[in-house]
Amino acid sequence: MNNIVARDVMSRNPITEDSGESVIRAAQIMRDKGISSILVLKNNVVEGIVTERDLVTKIVSKGLDPAKITLGEIMSSPLISINEDTPLELVAELMWKNKIRRLPVKRENVIVGILTENDIVRISPGLIEITREISGDKNYQLIAGLHGICDRCHEYSNNLVYRAGKYYCELCYSDIISSLNE
Ligand SMILES: [Zn+2]
Repeated sequence: MNNIVARDVMSRNPITEDSGESVIRAAQIMRDKGISSILVLKNNVVEGIVTERDLVTKIVSKGLDPAKITLGEIMSSPLISINEDTPLELVAELMWKNKIRRLPVKRENVIVGILTENDIVRISPGLIEITREISGDKNYQLIAGLHGICDRCHEYSNNLVYRAGKYYCELCYSDIISSLNE
């Protein structure tokens, strides 16, 4: 883990879209490119981020028409970002403390990449859990309030549990734990 920084792990050339673009267009781009977030530009400056989770929580769950909503209306802003030289340990801690799973990476104020929690798990499977322990959360496997899609049943959950590189809803997690105990 020594000396690994954001630049070593990030995906380069993150996908951006103008804030006036429709949500449905952004969803198509995410699907076609196999990505889970889009950075949102306003006057060619990155202003926010829209993730798959936003599509579920801000559009689908409210029955809104994704053709009529723009990215600017649902983006998360202001954007927390990191410098490309930020050590991976700090990145993991920042994600944990802010309950976010991806961070744009900057070089001299220009966004040059994006780093997801999955990228960190791939490089260092223990780091996220270690960070949670250090953060003083006794029940560190439970990520209170982290919203997203369960990796097992693919249902939306607002209280995902992290275990061995995957996220589970509480129901699936208790299934797994009880099957381990049998
Ligand atoms: Zn589940």
